[in-house]
Amino acid sequence: MQSVTAIKGIGEETATALADMKIYNIKDLLEYFPYRYEDYRLRDLAEVKHDEKITVEGKVHSEPSLTYYGRKRSRLTIRLLVDRYLIQVVLFNQPYLKKKLAINDQITVSGKWDGHRQMITASELKVGSPDTKKDFEPVYALKGDMTLKGIRRCIQLAFSQYGQWVEETLPEPLRKKYKLINRRDAIKALHYPLEQGNLKQARRRFVYEEFLLFQLKMQTLRKIEREQSKGTSQEYDEEKTAAFIQQLPFPLTNAQSRVIKEILADMKSIYRMNRLLQGDVGSGKTVVAAISLFASVSAGFQGALMVPTEILAEQHAESLKELLEPVGISCELLTSSVKGKRRKELLVKLKTGDIDILIGTHALIQEEVEFNKLGLVITDEQHRFGVEQRRILREKGVNPDVLFMTATPIPRTLAITVFGEMDVSIIDEMPAGRKSIETYWVKPEMMDRVLSFMNKELLKGRQVYVICPLIEESDKLDVQNAIDVHGTLVHFFQNRYQIGLMHGRLPADEKDIVMKEFGENKLQVLVSTTVVEVGVNVPNATLMVIYDAERFGLSQLHQLRGRVGRGSEQSYCILLADPKSETGKERMKIMTETNDGFVLSEKDLELRGPGDFFGKKQSGLPEFKVADMVHDFRALETARQDAAILVESSYFWNADEYQLLRSYLEETGVFDGEKLD
Ligand code: ADP
Ligand code: MG
Repeated sequence: MQSVTAIKGIGEETATALADMKIYNIKDLLEYFPYRYEDYRLRDLAEVKHDEKITVEGKVHSEPSLTYYGRKRSRLTIRLLVDRYLIQVVLFNQPYLKKKLAINDQITVSGKWDGHRQMITASELKVGSPDTKKDFEPVYALKGDMTLKGIRRCIQLAFSQYGQWVEETLPEPLRKKYKLINRRDAIKALHYPLEQGNLKQARRRFVYEEFLLFQLKMQTLRKIEREQSKGTSQEYDEEKTAAFIQQLPFPLTNAQSRVIKEILADMKSIYRMNRLLQGDVGSGKTVVAAISLFASVSAGFQGALMVPTEILAEQHAESLKELLEPVGISCELLTSSVKGKRRKELLVKLKTGDIDILIGTHALIQEEVEFNKLGLVITDEQHRFGVEQRRILREKGVNPDVLFMTATPIPRTLAITVFGEMDVSIIDEMPAGRKSIETYWVKPEMMDRVLSFMNKELLKGRQVYVICPLIEESDKLDVQNAIDVHGTLVHFFQNRYQIGLMHGRLPADEKDIVMKEFGENKLQVLVSTTVVEVGVNVPNATLMVIYDAERFGLSQLHQLRGRVGRGSEQSYCILLADPKSETGKERMKIMTETNDGFVLSEKDLELRGPGDFFGKKQSGLPEFKVADMVHDFRALETARQDAAILVESSYFWNADEYQLLRSYLEETGVFDGEKLD
């Protein structure tokens, strides 16, 4: 692609300034789209809302008056007749304009409309009529030395000299199907929109193009993953599996039945399963895991369940044993505390196939562990396991089906974006009769009442979590806060209750000890930073108090809240928060109104936008120039469906009209030009 210096009128100096904005070649420049537009359409004042930006044309009605206040500060006031309205126009610090204006001059001003005072605070003033062609002017994000005028000029030059070379990426049939304008016209309209409709068409076209390219990439990855890594077809025993489901202590929810169908179909197919299972805390993922593992064993394979911590491994081992051992399936737990002779025996049994299911941390696949015939690997809390673990598995020569389970509800749009190369199953229904957690939003001044409520629950023999104030990006201060809160509570409760403390600076084994003690009710109150494990199960804990709740994301609050409400007793969550903004208040309010993680995650996405949704560090989100995942989600779905069909068609991989899309895939390194049809 040609460098920007190939454009006549752009020299080295400008090129350097452009490079600072990551604009290197002509394509970069042409596709450096405005993030908003100045709207210069003339408006009838009667329709303009207070505080809106407007442009009007009018006649200077009387001699403008100029007042100085301070040495350099001035205010120029003009009485302007606009149609039948007489309004005021105010300009700050441009005294020289007074001389240029005479009574009865026709002028055009742009600025902010003050509806109460019938006044415009003007940012621009032009003698004469408005430029009729320019209803909108593009506004670009700037960096370094570049000015708005400068970038507009560069783009103008690029378009006039190279605009005609813009290549069409979308083939005719797709453009026809969705009535999309061609690429060149779309680029032109985004930089120089003539009217609103024109801009909308241009946006539509690019939104689709961006999503299609992105989804083609994801779907190609998925195809490669499926077809080029050998899978195992697990011919599970359908009758036995159905009978196993029959004898469970409860009927499955519809959602559970649906996801099990999806999982079993994957296991049976010759492809390797690569599936994400999402389900809110308590939605019953464990039993889904148990059924899948049962099916795998019935097909003559072994299964593994991996979780992030040893405590969770113990808890899962217990639940799986309860479900699977009565039907003759052997489950074993492998943790670092299984040592010596016992460990050796266990490993031998695993190798000979005498153990059906192994449960543990990721050490399961890293250490000296050898399976006889591994068919299915399930990982809980998928974000802790990554590509690396999968590579290790592959290097061990096993290509088991893989199911990732997560309790973090991710809105569908984000799920299919971030996990675009995976298949996604969602349990969006809770088992019947589940008590919801009563949630209250309380101002910090009411701490006394919170303490007495805590006392009440403790008197009933229940336990309490206290989540500490969060200070962004300062682990050290977070720890200090936890220590302070712990001190306060120890002082308040004297020796009546044992109060534990947990934070990120504790060594892992100490954390485990604290958690264990809380689990055994040796500690009645647990003061903790957010390190308290997702998935930890202490049914006797019925109250959670969260400090500074406004600082957490809704999904995170929901995750934390899921630590209570795990027993038969009514549970409570108290959010201590004093949010200043309306959004902040709305967020606290919605927490008190719903217990549905998916509703909350959609709301969170809406209120905070996709960038903030996952937090700053781990975003993994693609960047789009024009498209917006939240608002354009319908286009995203459409593009995903189209991409899925395309990558499976041999026409896509061969036809000339798809050449540009294919070469884009090559550029992104997804595939290296080999035929995938
Ligand atoms: P999670 O999705 O958080 O892992 P669990 O699998 O731990 O949820 O399930 C939470 C509780 O709900 C368990 O006690 C489990 O036995 C119970 N459960 C799961 N499925 C059902 C169902 N279909 N009907 C009634 N109770 C269920
Ligand atoms: Mg679970």
